[in-house]
Amino acid sequence: MHSNYDVLIVGGGIIGSSIAYNLMNDEFSGTVAVFEKDPTYEFSSTTLSAGGIRRQFSTEVNIRISQYGVQFYEQFDEAMSVDGERAHGEFHQRGYLFLANEKNWPLMEQHHEFQTSLGVKVDLLSSEETLKIIPHLNTEDLVGASFSAGDGYLDPYGTLQGYAKKARCLGVTYVTDEVTKILRDKNRITGLVTDKGDTYNSSIVVNCAGPWAADVGRMAGVDLPVDPVRRMAYVFQPAEIFDYDLPLVIDVTGLYFRHETGRIIMTGKSISEEPSGINFAVDKAFFHDTMWPILANRIPVFDRLKLIRGWAGLYAINRLDSNALIGEHPDLEGFYMAIGFSGHGFQQAPAVGKGMSELIRLGHYEALDLSPLSYERVLTGKLVVEEEVV
Ligand SMILES: Cc1cc2nc3c(=O)[nH]c(=O)nc-3n(C[C@H](O)[C@H](O)[C@H](O)COP(=O)(O)OP(=O)(O)OC[C@H]3O[C@@H](n4cnc5c(N)ncnc54)[C@H](O)[C@@H]3O)c2cc1C
Repeated sequence: MHSNYDVLIVGGGIIGSSIAYNLMNDEFSGTVAVFEKDPTYEFSSTTLSAGGIRRQFSTEVNIRISQYGVQFYEQFDEAMSVDGERAHGEFHQRGYLFLANEKNWPLMEQHHEFQTSLGVKVDLLSSEETLKIIPHLNTEDLVGASFSAGDGYLDPYGTLQGYAKKARCLGVTYVTDEVTKILRDKNRITGLVTDKGDTYNSSIVVNCAGPWAADVGRMAGVDLPVDPVRRMAYVFQPAEIFDYDLPLVIDVTGLYFRHETGRIIMTGKSISEEPSGINFAVDKAFFHDTMWPILANRIPVFDRLKLIRGWAGLYAINRLDSNALIGEHPDLEGFYMAIGFSGHGFQQAPAVGKGMSELIRLGHYEALDLSPLSYERVLTGKLVVEEEVV
């Protein structure tokens, strides 16, 4: 079978689906197909994520991307309505609270000044003020915290379905096949082939394959510095049920926790020495031996809890600077990418979708300048180093 499309998107996770939605919503006159090998999204990073969005970053481009994202997610359920039925992103704006001890307080003050200068509403709190937000907190070793009340989290599955359903309704075709070959004629893209042997012709292929982005790069004959790395998350039932909602809290150790529906707690922590590779095994000992002591120190009533379940998903990590690679490959005309999002791709989907739509339709960015995240920095070494990676 041979088909012709104007844009072929490899990967129907939140990034690919946001790009597809934005293209059609921006009245792109061409045809768009999204290829997704796993329509259940069982192993996609999107559905395994914590769904958080925050504006507390250290680089201007990441702050601007999240400012755009917060505004977009505030009206997401309505904007993604299909036939009068609202989407179910369900944005909970309960805030992001970064805790600080003496060691990381100076950096937090510096970041606070920068974030404020870009118009982010974020407050530096003393320990006493922090206790007003979380009365159960142990503040013994803390100097204070940084709190952005308008940040929060959404339901990752509901958000992804919202984008995909709206994209379909606007005319995007979803093909549930695996892409196995990218076709090129010298330095120009000409299409792709799926595992069914079907050929799709196009002068534009967009790599949105998340943790599998480097594989798709190899199919096109280009090397992409993105590795899949396991990240685990857990939910537990605390012995005491709080009568207030926790914001998303980031401890000084990097461990994060927040309330989940039903007042259970969701938590996670990156293992810095985690090797790269596709690994979905859940290590319960890591929760018991490493995370639980940190949780019980920070919220003493967490010394009694019941672990409900854990899961592992994959970060797609750009090993050069842990930030996304967005735009067209400089040596392969028509080969676009939106990859390498580490732990912040869910929140970057709205701005990246808009930016990629502009780049493909108009050849330049308008709403937001995403050029600092272009592939060129792999060649120039002009990296975008983010100091607030969770
Ligand atoms: C535990 C955890 C917590 C996280 N928490 C947050 C958070 O709080 N906030 C945040 O912003 N981000 C978070 N993230 C990161 C976020 O989930 C990702 O950055 C984001 O989901 C990336 O979306 P994506 O569409 O690029 O990738 P994916 O969702 O993985 O989608 C890529 C898709 O491509 C498909 N695919 C791959 N290869 C092919 C092929 N050859 N043919 C066809 N289909 C293919 C895959 O099946 C997959 O569905 C977290 C991630 C994890 C693992």
